[in-house]
Amino acid sequence: LSWISRCAVRTGSLAALGAAILIPPLCAAADRSPTVEFAGKRLAIANTANVGGALAIAADDPGLRDLLRKLGAAMTWKRGERYVLITTSEPRVISFSVGDQRYDVGPASSRAAFAPFERNRTVYLPFDDLMRALNLQSRRRGATIVLQTRGSASPPRSKPTATPKPAPVLPTPPPIVQATATPANVSTVTVTAVNIQTDSSGATVNVAVSGTASFDWHRLRDPDNRFWIDLHDAQLQIPAKDETANDPLLGIRARQTDPQTVRIALTLAGPKRIDVLPNAFGVSIVVGNDEAPTDAARAGNGITGAVVAATPAPQTTDESWKFGPQGYVPTNPRLIIIDPGHGGSDRGASRSGVSEAGLNLDFSKRLRDLLVARGWHVQMTRTTDVDVYAPNDSAHDELQARVDVANNAGARLFVSIHTNSFVNSSPSGTTTYYSKPSDVPFARAVQQELVSFLGTKDDGIVKSKLYVTLHSLMPAVLVETAFLSNPEDFGRLTSPQWRQKVAQAIAQGIADFAGPPPTADK
Ligand SMILES: [Zn+2]
Repeated sequence: LSWISRCAVRTGSLAALGAAILIPPLCAAADRSPTVEFAGKRLAIANTANVGGALAIAADDPGLRDLLRKLGAAMTWKRGERYVLITTSEPRVISFSVGDQRYDVGPASSRAAFAPFERNRTVYLPFDDLMRALNLQSRRRGATIVLQTRGSASPPRSKPTATPKPAPVLPTPPPIVQATATPANVSTVTVTAVNIQTDSSGATVNVAVSGTASFDWHRLRDPDNRFWIDLHDAQLQIPAKDETANDPLLGIRARQTDPQTVRIALTLAGPKRIDVLPNAFGVSIVVGNDEAPTDAARAGNGITGAVVAATPAPQTTDESWKFGPQGYVPTNPRLIIIDPGHGGSDRGASRSGVSEAGLNLDFSKRLRDLLVARGWHVQMTRTTDVDVYAPNDSAHDELQARVDVANNAGARLFVSIHTNSFVNSSPSGTTTYYSKPSDVPFARAVQQELVSFLGTKDDGIVKSKLYVTLHSLMPAVLVETAFLSNPEDFGRLTSPQWRQKVAQAIAQGIADFAGPPPTADK
C-alpha cells in the first residue's frame, strides 16, 4: 500500500470535535424599527434589533433591499448562510461574517461596533458600519435616521476606465510583509483569551492577542518538562488562569508577570513535541502526543498578529517543517492554492456517471470565487478537466506537480478538495486530513466550519501522510467533502446548493484560521 495515495479511501477516524458554538451577542427582543429616510423617501425598514444601544438590521429586511437597489448595489446572501456579500455599483465588495467583528470593504478591513449574528435564520448586520461601507452618511433628526450619500468621498462615476476590478486572480505578487516590528513601534496589546483544544493528535493552546506583540518562548529539559511563552508589551485581559489539563498537557497557567509581560506556562506530561505558530489571531502552541527530537530547539521568538511568521528565511527542503516552528515564511502571503483532486485521465471515485474529478473542480471554482471576493489571490492547480502533470502519469509525478504549484508560488495556504468513496455504502461524512504540525490549527478550523454548516457526519480531522499535505511547505489540508458511495451523501454531492455551502464553509474556515488577507499597502 503506497503512502503516495491519490485519494484517501478509508472510513476515517472518529476523532470527533466538539462543534464550536457561536455565542450570539445579548440582544433585546426585536425592537420597534426606527424610521429611516433616504433621498427624501421613507424606507420600509421592518426587521431590526438593538445591540447595546446600536442598531442591527436583518440582511433580508425589505427596506435595506430597497436601499441597495436604489444605490445600484447587490447582495449575495441566502437564509442559513453565515456571511453577507454586498457588491456596490463601483464595484466594490463589502463582506460581513457571522461572529466576526471585522468586515471588509474592498481590500480594507475595519472593525464594526459588534459582530454580525444569526437569529431566526437571518443575519443581523451592524447598521452604522454597513451605512459607512455603503458610503452613506447617517444623521439623526429626532427619531428619524436620515441617510445621505457622502458627496466628497464618492469617487467620480464619469471615469469608468479608472474603476478597479475588485480582486484579480493571479496578479503580480505583493511585497512580502516583513514582520520587523521593533520595540519602538509595538504598542501595548491585550491577551483576550487562552483556551485548549484536544484531539487524538494532541492539544492546541490558542492564545488570542489583539494586535502585534513580540514573544519569546523557552522550554526546560526532561524531566522538568515545562514550557512558557512571554508576550511583551501585553496586558492580560482575562482573569489569571491556573488549570489542570489532560495528557499531553498536565497544567496551564496564564498571568501578568510584570506590568509589560503576559506569561503562558505549560506543564507537559513528558518531553512532548511543541510547535509555536503565530497566526492572525495571536499564537497557537501545538503540543503533540509524540516526543520532541532530542535536538529540538529550547527557545525561540516571534511576533503575533502577523500573518507572516517572524524570523527565518524560507527553507527549501521538503521536510523543513520538522526543524522548527517557524520554518515557512510565505513569499506570497495573499495567495491561496486550491487543488481540485484528480482530473483528466484520472477520474477518482465515480458513481452513476458522476465523477470525483468533476465534483472536485466544481467545489474548487466556487471556493475560488468566494476567496477572490474576500480579497485573496487564488491559484488553482487545474481549472479544467486535465491532468496537472501529464495524462496517465504516475501518482508521484502528478501529486508533486500540484505541490510544486504551491511551493514555487510561496503561497500562504494549500487546500486540496476531494470526494470520498468506499467499497460499501455505509460510511458517510466529512473529514479534513492534515500531515504537518503547522496544518493542525488550519485543519481544525476548516473541519469545524464544515460540520457546523453542512449537517454531514463529523468524521473529524485525521493525521495522514497524504502526499500533497505532507510535501507542501505551507499549512495545508485535504478535505474529503462526503462519500459518493453513500446514498444520502450522494444526494448532497449532486446538489449545487450543497456544493456552494461546502465552498462557503471552507472559505469561513480559512478566515477563522488566517484572518483577512493582508492588504497590499501594508
Ligand atoms: Zn480523491
